[in-house]
Amino acid sequence: MKKVLELTDVKKIYKMGEERIAALDSVTLDFYKGRTYCLLGTSGSGKSTLLNMMAGLERPTKGKIVFKGVNLEKLSEVHLADYRQKYIGFVFQSYNLLPTLTALENVMLPLIFRKVPKKVRKEKAMEMLKAVGLENRAKHKPSELSGGQQQRVSIARAFVNAPEIIFADEPTGNLDTKTTYEMINLITEIAKKNNQTLIIVTHDLEISEYADEIIHIKDGNVDKVDIKQHEKENNNEKTV
Ligand code: ADP
Ligand code: MG
Repeated sequence: MKKVLELTDVKKIYKMGEERIAALDSVTLDFYKGRTYCLLGTSGSGKSTLLNMMAGLERPTKGKIVFKGVNLEKLSEVHLADYRQKYIGFVFQSYNLLPTLTALENVMLPLIFRKVPKKVRKEKAMEMLKAVGLENRAKHKPSELSGGQQQRVSIARAFVNAPEIIFADEPTGNLDTKTTYEMINLITEIAKKNNQTLIIVTHDLEISEYADEIIHIKDGNVDKVDIKQHEKENNNEKTV
């Protein structure tokens, strides 16, 4: 298996006036191509901080974060932005769609940054909207879509660039139970099909069941890692 991301002794201290908050104490982890991971932990345990370091949105106070041989903590702001645009897809709890753009235009955005020609952008974005079951909502603005539909648009946007890694921070936090499982099924299926690494942050044990590995985060540290045995892989007689 190919390693895509390697964290060594990653620490993050936030200074609040006189106070120092160790959001991450010392995290050492490896992530491999095509696998689905869950960062599971209670509120305030450091999950989002960890995700933001790996996604190149924040820098560690100490430690190393290596993406395919490149040390992220040493990159300039410009190169970090480049890393995010080229290699990373994001799904947020609050969808983060641009309200004035249609569903299709929102999905096209990451391709604009990569200077893909307009015709190709449209084709690719439409293809992704189809993959998430929203081809008949392409011209709708976010306010004309349900929460679940908005999250589908944001999933299409996250994947349209074919990123190496997709980060999802509490992606179903604002959704009802049924929509939650539709969304988790969708995002894990697309990632598996394309052999992409998916890293989901959640506090929900049931969502974490969808991952190949559950990384338990507690007080800014990795408490333990559960590696799932998949029925489908181990029992060929079983078909879905
Ligand atoms: P989680 O995502 O697991 O709920 P976070 O990573 O958001 O946890 O936060 C971990 C800890 O770091 C919390 O105690 C939080 O208050 C603190 N923290 C997070 N971001 C900041 C920040 N920008 N400034 C100061 N403290 C922060
Ligand atoms: Mg969080």
